[in-house]
Amino acid sequence: MIITRFAPSPTGYLHVGNIRVAILNYLYSIKNNGIFFFRVENTDLIRSLVVNFSNALKDIDWFGLKYNNITYFQTVRFDIYKYYYKILKKRNDSYYCFCSDIELLFLKEKQLSMGLFPKYNEKCKKLNEIDIYNKISLGFKPVLRFNVPFNKILKFDDLLKGVQLCNSNSIGDFVIRKSNLFPSFIFSNLIDDFCMGVTHIFRGEDHITNTFKQIMLKNSLGILDIFYGHIPMINNFDGQVLSKRMGSFSIKKLKTNGFSSLSMINYLCKFGGGNLVFLSLKKLINFFDYEKIVNRSSKYDISQLLFYQKNYIIKNKKFYKILIFPYVNGIISIYKINFFISIFFDNIYFFNDIIYWVNVFFFKNIIYEKFNLNFFIFSDKLFYLELLYIFNIFYKNYFFYIKNFMNLCFFNEKKLFILLRLFITNKDDGPKLNDIISFLSYEFLIYRIKKMNNLLSYYVKNL
Ligand SMILES: [Zn+2]
Repeated sequence: MIITRFAPSPTGYLHVGNIRVAILNYLYSIKNNGIFFFRVENTDLIRSLVVNFSNALKDIDWFGLKYNNITYFQTVRFDIYKYYYKILKKRNDSYYCFCSDIELLFLKEKQLSMGLFPKYNEKCKKLNEIDIYNKISLGFKPVLRFNVPFNKILKFDDLLKGVQLCNSNSIGDFVIRKSNLFPSFIFSNLIDDFCMGVTHIFRGEDHITNTFKQIMLKNSLGILDIFYGHIPMINNFDGQVLSKRMGSFSIKKLKTNGFSSLSMINYLCKFGGGNLVFLSLKKLINFFDYEKIVNRSSKYDISQLLFYQKNYIIKNKKFYKILIFPYVNGIISIYKINFFISIFFDNIYFFNDIIYWVNVFFFKNIIYEKFNLNFFIFSDKLFYLELLYIFNIFYKNYFFYIKNFMNLCFFNEKKLFILLRLFITNKDDGPKLNDIISFLSYEFLIYRIKKMNNLLSYYVKNL
């Protein structure tokens, strides 16, 4: 049976990179009738917050990734870790290290300045039982390090990248238990995967070194093989790898912006390539094939995400018609809703956009954003009077007259239509101006042109 897991550390909001890992593990296990677990890696007590944990769970639920209802917390599993520490001790594969942080920092600086790859110098490996006893009785709190074997070729067959090789000499003796007796990530992460029976793990390629370390631990502990697939990282627009500190990529933020979970799943599981085709979750599961995961880092591309969101909204048009009803009930008849939606439906991505157009059409006052009015400096009062006159007399047939009028006064046509659009809709792009004006009430139209006149006169006076 295939068992996968998602194991975030609750140290901040989940971002698209985290959720992508969750989605890939989920799709693979469900496609193979396997199990998908959720595990909380909360051994980093200072940074782990209960609130982050519940936020992570909420996000997973929101994405509809159904996990097995056993949730693992690392902090209640210390006895299990103890058992495995004992095995390593017995095999002489671990030792105490009393080096202070400052000592280790100096060592690192020294190695770097000599052009060497920083690596622990195995100083404490030479300590005998009496040295250790003495240091512990003096109150020193050691970490436990893994005794990395000398000059050994480490190898694993990555599900995405093929065979990966590494010489053990390039890896220093790493910490497996911290001085506060908490397990290090490398250690508890492996033991938990083993205890949960995890068979396949998709995770970011920043974990490849960890995987080599865990392979050594596995060999030492006699633990069964786990298959790893290291997926390329998601970069931000500047090419930097996404991190939890980059709030704009947080799931919370994208949710608030109105993206649907299905658009995000579509985007993230085909991230970096493949055909842009919007699929249901069921189809995404059926078509999932990890060999198709794009094997290079790519930049986060909001335009692709918007493509899926657009498709989502088109697929759910009927549903949106029902959602919109309470907002326009009593304002327009149910028969007119179709026409109303058709005016702007091609220009929207989110439900909030619908509310926006409800406001434009059915609420007289618009709170204008700060436009760059420098673009439109002209203060000729006659100009507005003429404009008002045209709309007063010709209303929906304004177009021909405005064109003539502009030719007469040599006014830039494009600028005028942008200006009109801004004051009528508070946006500089969107549906056809003609469609907007033909649906907008006469009263609102005149009101907004007058407002345009007032605001611009005020602006010019205060320049
Ligand atoms: Zn040491």
